[in-house]
Amino acid sequence: MKRLPEIFDVFILGAGPAGLCAAIRLLEMGYTVGMLEQEQFPRPQIGESLSPGIRNIFEYLNAKHLLEDPTYLENCAAKVIWENKEQVYNRPAQIKGGIIVDRSKLDQDLLEFTVSKGLHIIQPAKLKQALNSENGWLLEITAGLDEFKISSKIVLDAKGRKGTLLKERMSIAPSAVAVWTHIETNSACNEALIEAVEEGWLWGSPVCGNRYRIMTFTDPIALKKNSESHLLEVIRKTKLFSPFVNKIGGEAIETCSVTSFVNQNPWNNGFIKIGEAAFTLDPLSSTGVEKAMRFSLQVAIAINTYLKDPDSPHPKDFYEEKLIESVVSHAHWTADYYRNAWTSNEKTEFWTKRTNFQLDVSKNETDFTLKLEKEFNTNGILFEKKQEPIPVDFILYRFWNEEIVVSPHATFKTVYAISKDSIVLKEALLHPNLERPSVYLDQIELFPFLKNINGKVVSSIVAHLNTTIGIEKSKKILVFLLSNHLLVVDKKEQEFNHYL
Ligand SMILES: Cc1cc2nc3c(=O)[nH]c(=O)nc-3n(C[C@H](O)[C@H](O)[C@H](O)COP(=O)(O)OP(=O)(O)OC[C@H]3O[C@@H](n4cnc5c(N)ncnc54)[C@H](O)[C@@H]3O)c2cc1C
Repeated sequence: MKRLPEIFDVFILGAGPAGLCAAIRLLEMGYTVGMLEQEQFPRPQIGESLSPGIRNIFEYLNAKHLLEDPTYLENCAAKVIWENKEQVYNRPAQIKGGIIVDRSKLDQDLLEFTVSKGLHIIQPAKLKQALNSENGWLLEITAGLDEFKISSKIVLDAKGRKGTLLKERMSIAPSAVAVWTHIETNSACNEALIEAVEEGWLWGSPVCGNRYRIMTFTDPIALKKNSESHLLEVIRKTKLFSPFVNKIGGEAIETCSVTSFVNQNPWNNGFIKIGEAAFTLDPLSSTGVEKAMRFSLQVAIAINTYLKDPDSPHPKDFYEEKLIESVVSHAHWTADYYRNAWTSNEKTEFWTKRTNFQLDVSKNETDFTLKLEKEFNTNGILFEKKQEPIPVDFILYRFWNEEIVVSPHATFKTVYAISKDSIVLKEALLHPNLERPSVYLDQIELFPFLKNINGKVVSSIVAHLNTTIGIEKSKKILVFLLSNHLLVVDKKEQEFNHYL
């Protein structure tokens, strides 16, 4: 182990993707970063089917080579029975789509990569106690027979789902449990299988090492005492999985709770939760790792702003806003997906609960959970009235000589945004045709941009923009704004639709 600094800027607990992603960004920003991991690596870890967005994140971290391992599986097609019981939907393989990795290998490679960037790792080791001190946090650590103390201005808790105490969790979805086992691949298939059944749903997926995993998700009350007989009973009811029923039993049957939760007090005095220690998601979307890493990128910005100005309220507010955004958008997406399953009309416990879930924080009331409840229980649609977009081909031709103005339905609101790795306040555009308040469009800041072009003729705007951002980007931005009615001709807006 390298000589440790007297005080770390940031000390991270847990070397999963969330902790390592935050560490890489903070090291890039010039901070001293330490980490403690309780397991010796490589260690087994579930969560190997990574969503396509993971590629951008690894590229951003300059670590995309870590995904280029010949043992990882790519371009996996899927067979799905979801909306219609009788119909199998064949989802084709997407080139450069998701990737199935060996998490024990990927996490170890990412750890080694982060150490090469300057991370101080203490492994295997455990945190005995964390005391809030004048300078931040004093951590008492045990590593084998050694005991020592470390100081850090900030602690990031990235201990994952298993490292989070039950009393810290607040459920954000109905209870769910996963039961799974593996079979040899040569006797199964190399595509994913997904099927909804009355008591839940099943997911089959190849995993590295010539194995195929079959996993069921059910309500805990439907789970029999013997998880093997439960697995077999559910599999027998399916179309896609029943051919494998005779292969079950050769490998261990595993079970774990997959109830989605959020930490009730995730930013507590410079002791900050990230990844699955902050929030866990329904496995339906297979985006757990991507969302955990994406949130870590945002947290790194909050920490950078905090370390520069510890008295500013913005880092904690920004952090909570992003955490709530992740949880709420995923919860609404998941509820919609469950609602679309053929089984949502069956009156079974699993589906009834999932299509009607409302968050109730009365037993877990904190400032944070109250904020979350407010966002969670709104319908998730920012604006209700959407106008049909104008066809793209028509736009520039039709409006080339017109004077345009910002739509009378547009308003602006001050929001948090990111600039040069810090949190800043910016004006965001709100409009019925935008799903969320937008500060930037294609890296152009909208507020000054719109102020500048308001009342000008389209051809002169394009000519002017051409000198700074080039003709193609100028046209693209204007087409988007005109097509979505964010910019309108300088007449009554009704006339706009009259042209179509
Ligand atoms: C059944 C199931 C299936 C899933 N499938 C998918 C999937 O297909 N795709 C996907 O993207 N996601 C999936 N997920 C979610 C995915 O596993 C997580 O999103 C991801 O692992 C979270 O990363 P993390 O860094 O927050 O936590 P983890 O990956 O759990 O890492 C936490 C680290 O902290 C260490 N640690 C724990 N306690 C301590 C302690 N006290 N001291 C020090 N270190 C400690 C652990 O050893 C571990 O290394 C699944 C989850 C479940 C439960």
